[in-house]
Amino acid sequence: MSDTPLAELTARVLRHRDERDWAQFHTPKELAISLAVEASELLALMQWQTGEALTRAVTNKRDKIVDELADVLHSTLLLAADLKIDLAEALKQKLAKDALKYPVEKSKGRAVKYDEL
Ligand SMILES: [Mg+2]
Repeated sequence: MSDTPLAELTARVLRHRDERDWAQFHTPKELAISLAVEASELLALMQWQTGEALTRAVTNKRDKIVDELADVLHSTLLLAADLKIDLAEALKQKLAKDALKYPVEKSKGRAVKYDEL
């Protein structure tokens, strides 16, 4: 796994955008739409597949999955930068909240929402 910090990745996506003068198109709404679109493109690669067919799809489409996941991160980094959100700190805080919502003793091995634990 790469140890590239989020701050360096953010600087790279901002430079990529600035070189193309695309910030003018990037309202928070447009970036949120882009994030959802890229997540949907990721989903489409696995849609309708189950079991072994899904496993094969994930293997056979790995390069496309990598690209779409990178697109999701790209949009996420831009949106977080524009909204001045420290993603690393946000994730730490969300994990702490989720740990309270999903105590290990109640949620381990169970795929149910917190209000059904
Ligand atoms: Mg894409």
